[in-house]
Amino acid sequence: MSPSGPELLRQIKSQIAEVDPAEVHELIDEGVAVVDVREAEEFAAGHIPGAKHVPRSYLESRIEAAVPDRSTQVILYCASGNRSAYAARTLQEDLGYEHVRSMNGGITLWKDRGYDVRVPRALSAEQRERYSRHLLIPEIGVDGQQKLLDAKVLLLGAGGLGSPIALYLAAAGVGTLGIVDDDEVDLSNLQRQVIHNSERIGVPKVDSAEESIRALNPDVKVVKYKTRLDSSNILEIIDGWDVIVDGVDNFPTRYLLNDATVRLKIPVVSASILGFDGQLSVFKPYEGPCYRCLFREPPPAELAPSCGANGVLGVLPGTMGLLQATEVIKLIAGIGEPAIGRLLLYDALGATLTEVKVHRDPECPICSREPSEISDEELGVFPDYEAFCAAAG
Ligand SMILES: [Zn+2]
Repeated sequence: MSPSGPELLRQIKSQIAEVDPAEVHELIDEGVAVVDVREAEEFAAGHIPGAKHVPRSYLESRIEAAVPDRSTQVILYCASGNRSAYAARTLQEDLGYEHVRSMNGGITLWKDRGYDVRVPRALSAEQRERYSRHLLIPEIGVDGQQKLLDAKVLLLGAGGLGSPIALYLAAAGVGTLGIVDDDEVDLSNLQRQVIHNSERIGVPKVDSAEESIRALNPDVKVVKYKTRLDSSNILEIIDGWDVIVDGVDNFPTRYLLNDATVRLKIPVVSASILGFDGQLSVFKPYEGPCYRCLFREPPPAELAPSCGANGVLGVLPGTMGLLQATEVIKLIAGIGEPAIGRLLLYDALGATLTEVKVHRDPECPICSREPSEISDEELGVFPDYEAFCAAAG
């Protein structure tokens, strides 16, 4: 005969370890994983600071992402200590976690004892629905979504790479997107620049991009710069952004951007594409190499692919742009391993992704020095673009 509900709960509680809120309060800063197993609305109404959120109904499928190491000390809690008792038994018996305890009395007792509760800024009902698939991933959740909504990301170029990046970051709820582009939409762009369309030929790309972003997600504020980055405007334009996404495929701007972002300590997610090949890296000043650590000097002008029109497979900027957008989200949410100190090489024809480790150059002309030592005059020191391309003949 199956036991009754209360009897079953007694049995379960006899098989697991329980812990008092006072002890949890002591342990909280010592590397234990505190996991809230309640539903999303309950978690959003207030939780133990630093708690991870894995609803009990998703325990089996999501606990590994929240607590990858099964030897970690795990403390589960719910409202009153019952759901967490069931969850503790599942972790212990079925999933092989070695040190699991359930907090008795749940967050109700925790609050009664006067301990801190963190109430995240609430998402609106519409935002909870719009971003529901983010809220279901423990690595993002309400906190991560708030970080995205608060983030300011500057896109250099609303072209091949910039189009998918802007669309997906807007969809993901990145709250402020800046776009720097001085160009107008051209028919030959539409093979890959999917943020624009046939009706907007001749329209400035920043305006066309803004229209598409608005239509997709009204949460996003668009800041437009219909200009080309140069040494006279770069510091003013890039100051204050959290992450910069480099979709510009010309060397002079890339060097200028590198030097200015090192000086302002802004991370850059960089990619370039040509033909069937793409490459990507994340340049986080002083944590990993900068662009000049990798490429001290630009290639000779006649070899630079940035002058004039080059062929590219239409889907390639989509692939590389979305790898960039992924790195941006990781940097903002503080999750995963961003591609810092790594150069990823994608070969579309071979369907291969190769990784090359790259290191800081202690002799780097830029990032071997403190930001305050890098003068305005040194930023992007390099012949100007027209002269550079003219030299290519
Ligand atoms: Zn460097």
